[in-house]
Amino acid sequence: MRKKLIAANWKMHKTPSGAHAFVHDFLPLVAGHDRDEIVLCPPFVDLAVTVEAVKGSGVFVGAQNVHWAKEGAFTGEVSAHMLEAVGVTHVIIGHSERRQYFAETDDTVNRRLETALDAGLTPIVCVGEVLEERESGLTDDVLRRQCTRAFSGISAKKAAKMTVAYEPVWAIGTGKTATPQIAASAHAVIRGEAEEAFGAEFAEQLRILYGGSMKPDNAKALMSEVEIDGGLVGGASLDAKSFAAIVKY
Ligand code: PEP
Repeated sequence: MRKKLIAANWKMHKTPSGAHAFVHDFLPLVAGHDRDEIVLCPPFVDLAVTVEAVKGSGVFVGAQNVHWAKEGAFTGEVSAHMLEAVGVTHVIIGHSERRQYFAETDDTVNRRLETALDAGLTPIVCVGEVLEERESGLTDDVLRRQCTRAFSGISAKKAAKMTVAYEPVWAIGTGKTATPQIAASAHAVIRGEAEEAFGAEFAEQLRILYGGSMKPDNAKALMSEVEIDGGLVGGASLDAKSFAAIVKY
């Protein structure tokens, strides 16, 4: 059995006081819920306050990105060591918004992934096709390419903590959700790539999350699909009640 991981991606929303208020409202709603691994991924400036606020609750805190270098002249970037130092345990890598607006490539995803794994963080590596790729029948090819390149040069031993999120770009923030069947078939392709790269045993244990307009009213159908090992939730994670309802689907 793979323990599901349900992560909130707050993107560029919430100030430190907003993050604190969320945690204050959210924790009582999920008290005692240990079925799943719950992760909050706020913007960098909210990380420390969020780590402090969730202390003792069993809820984890993740970042939305990490640079691949240890330190150096990289204005505006944040290293894995810095994340660890504030108590961050998870990190989203290669989100489609990073790929679309900030020149993220399969190669930089690979470099970030290796660094995050070296630092002992739990990476959530995002892959997914855009609408034109789906409509042209290229979904499986795109997923295979993104996975192969992301996993390149990384050993199964090193990759042990890695998780992958299947996030069809056409479903992110659009209100359109992949059906559980569409997600399951994409997840099977990703699992197949993981098997090629890391072996069958690794692939069997790999958690593959679904992301794309997951909401309280569709979470149960998605999470009940055996191939779906959790969710990466954007818009619906900004409100404590809504995210708690997804966690407790
Ligand atoms: C996301 O940003 O990872 C995401 C899935 O967003 P939304 O839930 O808003 O579609």
